[in-house]
Amino acid sequence: MANRIRTTQQLLAAFPHVAGGADLTSVMAKYPMAITPYYASLIRRADSSDPIFQMCVPRSQELSDPPFLMPDPLEECHDMPVPGMVHRYPDRALVIATTMCSTYCRHCTRKRIAGTRETNITKRRLEQIAAYLTEHPQISDVIVSGGDPLTMSTEHLEMVLSRLRQVPSVQIIRIGTRVPVVLPMRITDELCAMLRKYHPIWINTHFNHPQELTPESIAACNRLSDAGVPLGNQSVLLRGVNDRPQIIEQLCRALVRNRVRPYYLYQCDLVRGVEHFRTPVSRGMEIMEYLRGRLSGLAIPMFVVDAPHGGGKIPVLPNYVVSQSPTHTVLRNYEGMLIAYPEPQDRCEGHSAMPQEECSPGVWELAAGAYSRIQPEKTVRHTRRRTCCPSNETAREY
Ligand code: SF4
Repeated sequence: MANRIRTTQQLLAAFPHVAGGADLTSVMAKYPMAITPYYASLIRRADSSDPIFQMCVPRSQELSDPPFLMPDPLEECHDMPVPGMVHRYPDRALVIATTMCSTYCRHCTRKRIAGTRETNITKRRLEQIAAYLTEHPQISDVIVSGGDPLTMSTEHLEMVLSRLRQVPSVQIIRIGTRVPVVLPMRITDELCAMLRKYHPIWINTHFNHPQELTPESIAACNRLSDAGVPLGNQSVLLRGVNDRPQIIEQLCRALVRNRVRPYYLYQCDLVRGVEHFRTPVSRGMEIMEYLRGRLSGLAIPMFVVDAPHGGGKIPVLPNYVVSQSPTHTVLRNYEGMLIAYPEPQDRCEGHSAMPQEECSPGVWELAAGAYSRIQPEKTVRHTRRRTCCPSNETAREY
């Protein structure tokens, strides 16, 4: 932390070919820069073709502010019954425990606060939050976020966790942190021993690119898992960084291999200063279409748009329900195979749409129950089935 790259001079000393100048100074005056030496060491090319470089080095595009971008698009400030605590969903609350991060991500959704002042939650504020949680026992799940809570000293973080644990209705504590990615040496045995005292503790971390999965970051994740902390990962879809299906596939495979469950893939929020990172929503859907069938469900994150105006996370999926009748739902799988799923018999009474005449298979015939599936000819799986077991073919399946 003490050796973070924080100034233009330090940045240029580390990467002499970076264009300095007035733009960089203006960006950094608005959105602070900090890069841990470790994270800087992951940069392979000091230009915008490098994903790590893009995520941590300020660029002039951050000053572009189309009118639909907002400082707080999720309207967290409107859902703060106590300053520093967001209460949006009935059973969950989010505590902003610090405004400090070890590395300031250029795509951060809380650019309005991250790094503007580096402060940690006070005891007085923590008491106000604990009082609110006690008065609202429906809140059973508290997310400790920031900034990055794992930049706090172990003692300060313990003060937060132990106070939250004293609220009887708080069942689960989650910590949102990018420290395993940008400062993995912070995950010490001492920190893990402290976390163990406050289980169930869950951690969601924030890997965006396979290049971030290094021996050091994997070891940090292993230390947390070995301390009994289930790990999830929240990635953000970022233009030019990870917006190709193969990159997300590689990332998800590597995460699962290292006991980190891919949890969310976020559409970039409508935050000021991140327009150059935004991808169309259709790119996320393309990626989800690509992952399904290639990866196990365990390795597939949920693609969500965290809706503006505090609308919350909305899952966005390719459409797998093709049609419905009272007797059948017609579904499609990742190969394009159409399958008629029959509804329970007692729900179908009085509904008989079966065609009376000879017909050729189409979606209506599947919904009517005349056929059970329409099978694309040349999929690998279908070819294998036909080779292994020709009797799989039946007269009413196409
Ligand atoms: S670590 Fe999280 S809060 Fe901090 S800058 Fe990155 S995304 Fe924002």
